[in-house]
Amino acid sequence: MSDGTDATSLRVDGDRLLERLEALAAIGPITGPDGARGSSRLALTDEDRDGRDLVVTWMRDLGLDVAIDEIGNVVGTRAGTDPAAAPVMTGSHIDTVRSGGRYDGNLGVLAGLEVVETLERHAVQTRHPLAVAFFTNEEGARFQPDMLGSLVYAGGLALEDALDVTAIDGATLGAELRRIGYAGPVPCPAARAPHAFVELHIEQGPVLEAAAIGIGAVTGVQGISWQELTIDGQANHAGTTPMTMRHDAGLVAGQIAAFVRQLTGELGGHQVGTVGRMDLHPNLVNVVASRATMTVDLRNTDEAVLQEAEARLRARASELAAAEGVQVASRVLARFEPVSFDPLVVDLVEATARRLGHTTMRLPAGAGHDAQMLARLCPAGMIFTPSAGGVSHNPAEHTAPADLAAGADVLLQVLLALAQVA
Ligand SMILES: [Zn+2]
Repeated sequence: MSDGTDATSLRVDGDRLLERLEALAAIGPITGPDGARGSSRLALTDEDRDGRDLVVTWMRDLGLDVAIDEIGNVVGTRAGTDPAAAPVMTGSHIDTVRSGGRYDGNLGVLAGLEVVETLERHAVQTRHPLAVAFFTNEEGARFQPDMLGSLVYAGGLALEDALDVTAIDGATLGAELRRIGYAGPVPCPAARAPHAFVELHIEQGPVLEAAAIGIGAVTGVQGISWQELTIDGQANHAGTTPMTMRHDAGLVAGQIAAFVRQLTGELGGHQVGTVGRMDLHPNLVNVVASRATMTVDLRNTDEAVLQEAEARLRARASELAAAEGVQVASRVLARFEPVSFDPLVVDLVEATARRLGHTTMRLPAGAGHDAQMLARLCPAGMIFTPSAGGVSHNPAEHTAPADLAAGADVLLQVLLALAQVA
């Protein structure tokens, strides 16, 4: 320690963290109905490029060695004292959904930079290098699947397949990466696994706030099953076609949506289910719908129950389709098994939060996160901070400044413990 500070007493500068969050949120700015300010930076759009450019500038200003890989993941590395040691990595994502808030993903990346700046200012060296990453297309709002960049990084999806993915607007991922200047030269998947990975993220749910807890030690991530169902019936006249002679795709879509809600009640526990998108064709007031396209999002922390939910949905959709004389086909959009984080990392997060005087609890993550992909490569874990009202993917998304700083302090101390103060 060249400036004499005890590394275990180091704390981040919460104001500096907030300033960076504000500056990044100002790129792709949007305003909610209540005047709340959020961001819209869909993956690999001009807005995402501008956000990336700003964060890369900050990384270089902090002296980090910036590497961009073939899928556009960006990793800024601060050297350690042991040239043979693998980096301890932190980070998250800076792409957003169309109606994004200011903290989702951004907090984890910018808190990582704040950790680096704190270490720089106190001239603290670590044995392991410290790396801060942001991964491409975490949200999955423009390209599917979500968490695509970290999935390719972890070897879970072939690079060529990922580069061929088509966006909801028809663009191709590889072409968009080149267009915005982020098709990097560094091979992906990563040549070398990190020593460990820890991601700070807002909870995006109401649990911590309701329990008046400051820091969540995340035990794992729910399994996610996304599918698209296409129901084909027969278009016909709304006035002249007898009810008994219809093949109504819209009716079956509605029945399936109602069944998804019923299914979550039957399975109970952690099972959640959502029909978030439904399109009817030809979508006219006086025509029986010939085709319905809908999505079903099922999640559970228990893989066996998640598989049962999928099987029951399949069976019920077939029954409903047969009864109406329509065809139903399904296509998997994303499927990830539940992930358990490394018990030692979970313990470290919990113990560190306590040592710093914060209230803490263990909980599973309700949303998907890059850390679940990194968990395939190395010991991984997450730190949650409370989300006001549990609101996320919304400009009204909010976490109190003190909670943001607390989360970044825990991240700092967890990373120091893993990277070992030299
Ligand atoms: Zn996120």
